[in-house]
Amino acid sequence: MTIIRKQGFDFGFDPVACDECPSYCCCGESGYVWVSQQEFSQICEFLHINPVDCLDRYFQRVGNALSLKERVVEGRFECVFIEGAEKRCSVYEVRPVQCREFPFWNYFKKHKDEVVRECPGIRQ
Ligand code: SF4
Ligand code: SF4
Repeated sequence: MTIIRKQGFDFGFDPVACDECPSYCCCGESGYVWVSQQEFSQICEFLHINPVDCLDRYFQRVGNALSLKERVVEGRFECVFIEGAEKRCSVYEVRPVQCREFPFWNYFKKHKDEVVRECPGIRQ
């Protein structure tokens, strides 16, 4: 078992927990997942969808920025790329850096209790 640790964070993360987890980090409360222009292009290419349709289907503009759309399922928000009963990410290979860096977000340095509640992979 390899626990990932990052400087500045007083918790570790066990990625094995993701195998059994219904993607709590991608579902629940509403929130923005920011996407760079390069990430947008990578996702469109991965899905084999032209950028105009891809933008329309999966992305929302927030000011000058792009974020992923959400859908509401049984009263909870979930990322538009969540798929299937096991709630897996359908663009995992090209997911945005914000997703890759979870749970090591600066916000959680001072709100560890929140990430402990959300993610079953957090370790002391
Ligand atoms: S909430 Fe934690 S354990 Fe679950 S999928 Fe996300 S990172 Fe993995
Ligand atoms: S892109 Fe994938 S990893 Fe990121 S929030 Fe959406 S479902 Fe989760």
